Amino acid sequence: MMRIDIDELTVEISGARLVDDVTLRADEGQVVGLVGPNGSGKSTLLRCVYRALRPSAGTVRLGDEDLYTMSARESARRLAALPQEAVTEFDFTVAEVVAMGRLPHQRSMARTTEEDRRTCEAALAGVGAGHLTDRGFLTLSGGEKQRVLIARALAQQPRVLVLDEPTNHLDIAQQLEVLALVRESGLTVLTALHDLNLAALHCDVLHVIDGGRIVASGAPHDVLTPALLAEVFGVRAHRVPHPETGAVQLLFDRLLAA
Ligand code: ADP
Ligand code: MG
Repeated sequence: MMRIDIDELTVEISGARLVDDVTLRADEGQVVGLVGPNGSGKSTLLRCVYRALRPSAGTVRLGDEDLYTMSARESARRLAALPQEAVTEFDFTVAEVVAMGRLPHQRSMARTTEEDRRTCEAALAGVGAGHLTDRGFLTLSGGEKQRVLIARALAQQPRVLVLDEPTNHLDIAQQLEVLALVRESGLTVLTALHDLNLAALHCDVLHVIDGGRIVASGAPHDVLTPALLAEVFGVRAHRVPHPETGAVQLLFDRLLAA
């Protein structure tokens, strides 16, 4: 586990501020959620954290180290990511896809070791996908692909997981399963989530992003207020306690313009 510190991060592309002065942190072992309407800048922010994009300004630290001064290999040993549209173009087997997670730990030209193989097997078994090991990745269903990609991320043995809408394209049982796996990993997690009720149940802290800026932060119960949901998402929300756990859950109506 490792802390993530994002400090005054700004992304400008062709004069547009897609991420505007964002500061947030995820403490060791915390699951921190990023919610906001489509186009609010969640993916752009996360891309800076998994180094698919270099911000215009600001810093990201993992523990005490500056992410952008690490080599790609050093950061890949600390951080694994599941991008929003993780496309694997080539027809690798599941075992090959998961084995890619070991690359940051291997010396160049070194072959996969027995330990690498065991780590991959354990990661696949851990997400309940051991039986898929010889299948072609492209033949899998959406839920199976997602589990394999999570296994790849775990095989990487990172300290930090960055996930961009990891429950996309999954049925409800798979969504709950994926979020349980993420929690059980015990890692520090920064994840964008579409579904506010799932975010409320599975995140320790939520940051609401709108127009590239963080507009609210805190425990789900404190952040997901009717006023905020009207302002940011344009919906009327009723809060109800989960009948068993008491966690805040939301019921929505369309907000009709006055
Ligand atoms: P979210 O993940 O919250 O839906 P994104 O971060 O994907 O939002 O996008 C935020 C905004 O930035 C959108 O308006 C999107 O069109 C724009 N955007 C994203 N990437 C680029 C880019 N490379 N060039 C220009 N605009 C971009
Ligand atoms: Mg996105």
